[in-house]
Amino acid sequence: MAPLSWQILAKSSSHVGILLSNSSPRPPFNMPLPHESLTITGGCNCGAVRYRIAIPSFEHRPIHFVHGPEEASDPATPRLPLVCICHCNDCRAATGSILPAWCLTPQEMFSLSLLPKEDQHDGEGNDSLDAMQSLRLAPHDASGDSQRPPYVPGHGILSGGGESSAAAGTWLRVFCSTNSKVEGWDVDKRIYRSFCGRCGTNIAYLVYPMPFKFRDMVDVVLGTVDRGIIQDEWMRPERQLWHDYGVPWIKDMVEDLDGPIHPSFSTAEFVRK
Ligand SMILES: [Zn+2]
Ligand SMILES: [Zn+2]
Repeated sequence: MAPLSWQILAKSSSHVGILLSNSSPRPPFNMPLPHESLTITGGCNCGAVRYRIAIPSFEHRPIHFVHGPEEASDPATPRLPLVCICHCNDCRAATGSILPAWCLTPQEMFSLSLLPKEDQHDGEGNDSLDAMQSLRLAPHDASGDSQRPPYVPGHGILSGGGESSAAAGTWLRVFCSTNSKVEGWDVDKRIYRSFCGRCGTNIAYLVYPMPFKFRDMVDVVLGTVDRGIIQDEWMRPERQLWHDYGVPWIKDMVEDLDGPIHPSFSTAEFVRK
């Protein structure tokens, strides 16, 4: 018999209450994102960090930054956002997942709403039940948005730039994991990984500045997308990146997935088309 506190926590967390309807049957091929404009929402497990990805209609989505404008009319050229699995060692270790998956998002589509830290109190200055209360109170959808701080552009907050003070006093934490010079790069490499300081959920990855003047991106941890959205078939990763660096048995697990496989980040080079 679990302690009473854990029974309450189990009942109150969305872990148990999330038996939503099954998604539609799998189509015979990977579906890309729908062509009409849409908003993907998500956040950490406790609700302190929430985000929106506002995606314009297909014709307004940029092609992946490694491709030249002459490739824009080729239907095989990937558009952004792009949903993928990453086999790199850094993503596996940082997310603690053997198959980290991402929604590679142009920065201008990404916004954040961050709860201030004082929201941890229960109104009587009591904070001993924080974790349990936060899980009970956090909807894993956008239904609580009217009670939240407004959504603001997220890239500057996540990249430790001038707007990073916007994260001060909130639960968001940012870790700059490297700043070493990479051979062949035209800028110092700085990788920013962000997470909720209250519940620990990994939220996003970004490199800033981007090398070679590539567009600024926010790579969002796919597992943080709200259940009501991630269950759509078009959220299935459409390709695999950094395959040359992957763990053999993990690569075996996903060998039969549909979609191209790329040796590194570039969707212009292929292990398998
Ligand atoms: Zn959290
Ligand atoms: Zn990676």
